[in-house]
Amino acid sequence: MDSVSCHLVKNLPSIKEGDDLAEMIEDRFALRDGDIVCIASTVVSKSEGRFRRIEEYTPTARAKEIAGELDKDPRFVQAVLEESEDILLDRPFLLVATSFGHIGVNAGIDQSNVGQGRILLLPECPRESANRIRRGLKKDCAVIVTDTCGRPFRCGVAGVAIGWSGIAALRDWRGKRDLEGRELEITLEAIVDEIAGMANLLMGEGGDGTPVVVVRGFEHPKSGGKLFRPRELDVIRDRLQEKDRRS
Ligand code: GDP
Ligand code: MN
Ligand code: MN
Repeated sequence: MDSVSCHLVKNLPSIKEGDDLAEMIEDRFALRDGDIVCIASTVVSKSEGRFRRIEEYTPTARAKEIAGELDKDPRFVQAVLEESEDILLDRPFLLVATSFGHIGVNAGIDQSNVGQGRILLLPECPRESANRIRRGLKKDCAVIVTDTCGRPFRCGVAGVAIGWSGIAALRDWRGKRDLEGRELEITLEAIVDEIAGMANLLMGEGGDGTPVVVVRGFEHPKSGGKLFRPRELDVIRDRLQEKDRRS
């Protein structure tokens, strides 16, 4: 594998509920077997009708309390809480775990690129979304649903994978040898995040209108690997919630 190429899919319209993303992509780009089709979660959500109006939410006392501290609309906080399985931080921002295992600020709810007065929830289950879109493609491709996220410890947002299909989340280097012949012990590489990062770089965050990137030439394992760290192995989360309980 000497090189990999990345291609923006141009001329996609504003996505509406019910749009068939697989068909729309294939109409505009000549996919080949083995391509990895990276799709911004924003447009997956739009096609799945995940728009909500802020007025639809009735804040609970808890939502009002958090909203007061964060200086946010309590109805928005309520929307975040309804998309959350677990709260890791409630200040200085809401960091939560979604039902499908992804941890993100505001449960990944977007207010940009969605229109006035509306919010857009993440897909209910991005892995199922990725499976469905992949099944809709005529070519034998992998699909990665991406989102732009902040990261702990590092400034700046970056693209990550929140759903994938036809590609392993992790590449396993265990048992392989380094340059000096030492056996690698614990190296699992999050290839879907690395690919999502590159795709996100091309998509942009603003009004470019380019939510799909095709990555070509990367040979990858087809399945396996857990991207979301199982709760019982997540020591950072333990510590965050421990500190929260003490304060
Ligand atoms: P996110 O990273 O999934 O939250 O999505 P962003 O809001 O950052 O958008 C990623 C890319 O998709 C940007 O180039 C946006 O302009 C583009 N985009 C968002 N919605 C649409 C849409 O409905 N149609 C098209 N063609 N592009 C969109
Ligand atoms: Mn987003
Ligand atoms: Mn983005």
